[in-house]
Amino acid sequence: MVKAAVLYKPNEPMPIVDLAQDAPKAGEVRVKMGAAGVCASDHHVMLGQTTFPMPIVLGHEGAGVIAEVGPGVTSVKLGDRCILSFVPSCGYCHSCRTGSPQVCDTNRLTGTRQYDGTFRLKDNDGTDVHQFAKLGVFAESIIVPQQACFPVAEDIPMDVASLIGCSVTTGVGGVINQPNIRSGMTVAVFGSGGVGLNAIQGAKLLNASRIIAVDIHDHKLEFTYKFGATDVINSRSDDPAKKIMELTGGGVDFAFDTFGGAITTEQMMDSLRKGGTGVLVGLAPEGMTADINMVDLVRNQKTLTGSYYGSASPHETFGKLVDFYRKGLIDIDSLITRRYPLEEINEAYDALGRGEDGRGVIMF
Ligand SMILES: [Zn+2]
Ligand SMILES: [Zn+2]
Repeated sequence: MVKAAVLYKPNEPMPIVDLAQDAPKAGEVRVKMGAAGVCASDHHVMLGQTTFPMPIVLGHEGAGVIAEVGPGVTSVKLGDRCILSFVPSCGYCHSCRTGSPQVCDTNRLTGTRQYDGTFRLKDNDGTDVHQFAKLGVFAESIIVPQQACFPVAEDIPMDVASLIGCSVTTGVGGVINQPNIRSGMTVAVFGSGGVGLNAIQGAKLLNASRIIAVDIHDHKLEFTYKFGATDVINSRSDDPAKKIMELTGGGVDFAFDTFGGAITTEQMMDSLRKGGTGVLVGLAPEGMTADINMVDLVRNQKTLTGSYYGSASPHETFGKLVDFYRKGLIDIDSLITRRYPLEEINEAYDALGRGEDGRGVIMF
């Protein structure tokens, strides 16, 4: 039996339940959880903005220790401390073979089930329980494909490792892995949540000449200076595109929407200079569409692109981020502002919903 927070219905608190857990099958491992990040993507599911099969154990930003290995596991061993990837790539689909394992087709097809299409968790009445992103890190221990595990050394704390599993990779990776971004460019980042703060420090890492943070909360904007913002704009009191035009004399080279909304994406495109690139990083609620000025896109040769999980192989980005963290080039410790036991998961999400600064982490 394992303790896990289970979502049975949207907009209802998740009870902590004892679930039956199978042993790892071929190519799978059991990971004893060390830390799990309180990320907004899970919140979208809790609020019913993203539909997922239920019951489900949420949580996709985590780190832990390998506690059991299934038959044929060769990439990790018992006792390895690991960052978990929420896209455990298969290695043989079209996306994996063409160098984009972060959008692995097999992973997308099998979703909240393991690669063989079956489940590892059962409720006390025998119902199969889904694992968000094949992980479901809001549980004491989890069964996952070995490909989800990226071993890290002892010097990387568990809470830091867990954040590398999603927000740091999505934010820093989403900036530094853009093919045409260069030192000295101007950057705007919409949204100052976990991913936004990391996009800001990604821009700082690249020596962006100007890093403009845009949000609707003054206290969140104040927090962005710590991670490298040079200017801040409250989009409730100011028109961000107009203000960015003024600050930069014609717009930024790169803008990132880490919030993921129609309004922020439209503002992002309006704040670009000629030839500029807008990168949509945040996941919008399902079905949302944005109004894009088509003439502006053509006459000003703008680019609009999406970025998923750092736009590159997650394991490749994890390795770089661990190095940056060791050298003090990125700050992950200051991102973590609140720590909770698993029993307080619902409170942790209430705090996220209220827009509190920085990241909450569940510590096991
Ligand atoms: Zn996340
Ligand atoms: Zn694949």
